[in-house]
Amino acid sequence: MIKQAVILGAGLGSRLKGRTECMPKGFLELDGMPIVEASVRKLFEVGIEEIIIGTGHCSEWYDRLAQKYSPAIRTVRNPKYADTGSMGTLEVCAPHVKGDFLLLESDLIYDKIGLDVLLNDTDRDVILASGATKSGDEVYLEAADGTVLHNISKNKELLGSIYAELVGITKLSRETLKAMCEFAENHHADQPKMEYETAMAAVSQKLHSENNLNHKPIYIRKIEYYAWHEIDDESHLEMAVNQILPRIKENELLRRVRREVLLNPGPATTTDSVKFAQVQPDICPREKEFGELMNWICRELSAFAGNPDEIETVLFGGSGTAADEVMISSCVPEDGKLLVIDNGAYGARMAKMAEVYHLNFDVFKSSAYQALDLAELEHKIAAGKYTHLAAVFHETTTGLLNPIAQIGAICKKYNVITLIDAVSAYVGMPIDMEKMGIHFMSATSNKNIQGMAGVAFVICNRNELEKLSSVPMRSLYLNLYAQYSHFKKTSQTRFTPPVQTLYALRQAIIETKIETVEKRYERYTECWNILTDTVERLGLKMLVDKKNQSHFITAILEPENPRYNFDELHDFAMKHGFTIYPGKLGEINTFRIANIGDIKPAEMKRFSEVLEIYLKSIC
Ligand SMILES: *Cc1c(COP(=O)(O)O)cnc(C)c1O
Repeated sequence: MIKQAVILGAGLGSRLKGRTECMPKGFLELDGMPIVEASVRKLFEVGIEEIIIGTGHCSEWYDRLAQKYSPAIRTVRNPKYADTGSMGTLEVCAPHVKGDFLLLESDLIYDKIGLDVLLNDTDRDVILASGATKSGDEVYLEAADGTVLHNISKNKELLGSIYAELVGITKLSRETLKAMCEFAENHHADQPKMEYETAMAAVSQKLHSENNLNHKPIYIRKIEYYAWHEIDDESHLEMAVNQILPRIKENELLRRVRREVLLNPGPATTTDSVKFAQVQPDICPREKEFGELMNWICRELSAFAGNPDEIETVLFGGSGTAADEVMISSCVPEDGKLLVIDNGAYGARMAKMAEVYHLNFDVFKSSAYQALDLAELEHKIAAGKYTHLAAVFHETTTGLLNPIAQIGAICKKYNVITLIDAVSAYVGMPIDMEKMGIHFMSATSNKNIQGMAGVAFVICNRNELEKLSSVPMRSLYLNLYAQYSHFKKTSQTRFTPPVQTLYALRQAIIETKIETVEKRYERYTECWNILTDTVERLGLKMLVDKKNQSHFITAILEPENPRYNFDELHDFAMKHGFTIYPGKLGEINTFRIANIGDIKPAEMKRFSEVLEIYLKSIC
């Protein structure tokens, strides 16, 4: 573990003219903070505990900084700073260095990731470098044998070839520091103003030629598009403020992963561990290792729906709608006849798909917010000679839960194959395909399984799936049997799978197994209770009777108060970290609050307070 850093801050900063006459370069302010202080904070964030600053010009500025961060920062003055170079200052600091350390120039703004790259590197002596910056003040690096530091110069002519640009952040071992100091001492007479770069290059060359396995040379690690800048003159300052600083801030913010609670009906809130599971080494998805990953994912997804020995899960790259389209287009044979239950937007969408694929089909229309009439449905099925039925498990439009087990029982009686859109139900509540009479079931990676959007899958009764080989292929990409038989033979999907999304899905499956589907349903229900209690207490009305609701999403009628405005409520909630979604159902205006995803009851309580504050504010 590296605990120390040395910052070289003795320089004059003479090129900044008036600005630094009585101030070291490191104290130029950017974004309300001296650049050296921003650098110090980044060092603390990556675990550095002690910072030694070599000072000279206007050293009292650094002494004040050291006081502010005492005892973590210490200053060491180079009394001869005006007559030595940066190596002279490093020599003065060297006795205080206890082990391997980071060496930084004082006038840098940079993306913190560079520190992580150096600290994570297994080599002990590593220079951070970037691709071309065109800053006008580049320090070029020449490499030998790939990435060994061979030479450093501002003058391209002096180098055999240019590999990268020096950033000014380096990880050094104590042994290398010692060798650099010895080199400098031998040249005090002929090179009194030696820069530390010169000593690094000389030591690296020597170590490389010695080929000593116990003390390897200095390596260059290049981050091609690294966001960094050295502030040496006025034009640098402007460039830094306008171009580099916004890039650094955006990058660092992205990596911080602020928590947002999504109360919209998918994609759902994910855990940080699922988010970070996406960052993996690049891999060709045709590698055996990736095939094993997909096989594992398929089996685990099947196991959530029953006995994995009788169930096959087939993966596609796509959203939940793709999984629905796979089912509708792949399962109904030429002479088959499909009945689609339409009691909401998703049922209507499946009917539309049946139309697009020119299937022989009828629609059973039912209220979007009242329970389905099972007797009427049975009557329709009995009279219609249907081979297949499509229904939505949980109508996300309104939160209405359809009686799938009863529908399955009716279908069994009439020998009808069931295609169930379970996109917003799967893994949010226990589902047993066999017991519920479900033959095919569509779902997605980004709802109750709490993964990232991008994997669509169909969970299939294997016997029924095998029979699909004789159904005509109506879509090339979205064909269930073709995808299944290819994967069974090769452990590969026919087309590029969403690689990183599958890694996140693996993590989401692991977390679902740990929580268990039963406990997840309890957690969702607890959140739903908190929400619906608040809704009732505030005198708001729900679209669907509580007994017919899924506990995953609640459609709330908009208050009739003329001062109510959804956009205002949305923005107010957003300010408190909650994202909500409107829902219009014909002429009925609702807003919908989903409580699927990685949401804790305490967060639902907080949202309920936000809702109450907003509603009281318009009274
Ligand atoms: C979300 C959802 C879909 C569609 O999923 P997308 O990922 O938006 O394509 C389909 N059916 C139901 C029931 C859903 O809730």
